[in-house]
Amino acid sequence: MLITGASQLLTLRGRVPRRGKFLVDIGIIRDGALLVRDGVIAAVGTRLEVESLPESRSAEKLDLGGRVALPGFVDSHTHLIHAASRAEEYELKIAGASYEEIARKGGGILNSVKKLRAATVENLKKRAHAALREFAAHGTTTLEAKSGYGLDVASELKILRLHKELSAEQPLDIVSTFLGAHVVPAEFRNKPDGSAQYIALLTDKLIPEVAGTELAEFCDVFCDRGAFSVSEAKKVLEAGKQHGLAPRLHAEQLTRSGATQLAVQLGAASCDHLEQVSKADIRALAKSNTVATLLPGCDFHLGLRKYAPARELIEAGAIVALATDYNPGTCPTMSMPMILSLACSQLRMSPAEAIAAATINAAYSLLRDHKIGSLETGKQADIAIFDVDDYREIPYYFGVNKCWMTLKKGQPVFQKAHT
Ligand SMILES: [Zn+2]
Repeated sequence: MLITGASQLLTLRGRVPRRGKFLVDIGIIRDGALLVRDGVIAAVGTRLEVESLPESRSAEKLDLGGRVALPGFVDSHTHLIHAASRAEEYELKIAGASYEEIARKGGGILNSVKKLRAATVENLKKRAHAALREFAAHGTTTLEAKSGYGLDVASELKILRLHKELSAEQPLDIVSTFLGAHVVPAEFRNKPDGSAQYIALLTDKLIPEVAGTELAEFCDVFCDRGAFSVSEAKKVLEAGKQHGLAPRLHAEQLTRSGATQLAVQLGAASCDHLEQVSKADIRALAKSNTVATLLPGCDFHLGLRKYAPARELIEAGAIVALATDYNPGTCPTMSMPMILSLACSQLRMSPAEAIAAATINAAYSLLRDHKIGSLETGKQADIAIFDVDDYREIPYYFGVNKCWMTLKKGQPVFQKAHT
């Protein structure tokens, strides 16, 4: 297939990962074109260059009509599988209840756990399929998905198996993460040593089972007040590493716990949230290959007004990525363009920086930068096309969907209806 007519083709070619002043490099080709063969990019360049290739003459044509094309978004942090929204808590939060107050009343994550355990696989799958269609409709072509609303052996495995089934049944790639250490489940909370017993269940039973059956690539821990301590997180992540699961971490969201330092020590692929990071944490991230994944949708939805210090992280040289954190409690959105809008207006990232953070750096955090995250010869033809003249309009518009078409491995997975 020959794709022409891109007013701006954002290739995102260049150094990986992007740090500091290089984060703005998005490799724009004006009047750009792509040649796609068997789902892979065979050539990329200006229209004149690509059209002159012999293979282009016989190719099927797609004219983008002056729209903007870029790599499909890589959403590197989601909690895809859950049974229901928590709209009732949303109203309580607006009335002033804090996230932790709601959790203490049996709401929050434990509320989602109760509902997930009771849900059928069929219903969970139906809900996830609908969400995946929304992700595709907003330009996302690969997403990470975490377990963590099961918190017992059968329910965690139920979620992880769904990641695998969904990845096979629909076109978007799903990268699976085991988040058994989301919170301590209710049945362990009243026992003396309950949390130690639950961690032993994770390290001695669930992690070996999950790794042995290849149900996840990554292991994650929610390390914060009300969830797990740094020493507990270390136990879980080290057990994961021993079994070949690369670490990721929920760090410094509600309080500054020291989780970032742990992530760096363990060589974690990603350290996520970071609203409360210290200067020393920023320096540690800057010297490491651990990606600082920022999730401004959470702060927006919770009305917290304390966003992660993106500018300081970028200027120090940390590898910054952006993701939705799609989940029923703190960030019910599948829209990466909305996350880009928040990154620009609240985190003071430039549109180019936000796009690099949501594509190539996010791909790096999922250990997939060799396959996705940029439009270069040999990479998957995962492409998002926006109905705008200039890439800066992608974050500039908010609350409306400007995605016009999404291609996964060269095949359309979303196309806006003609109006
Ligand atoms: Zn999360």
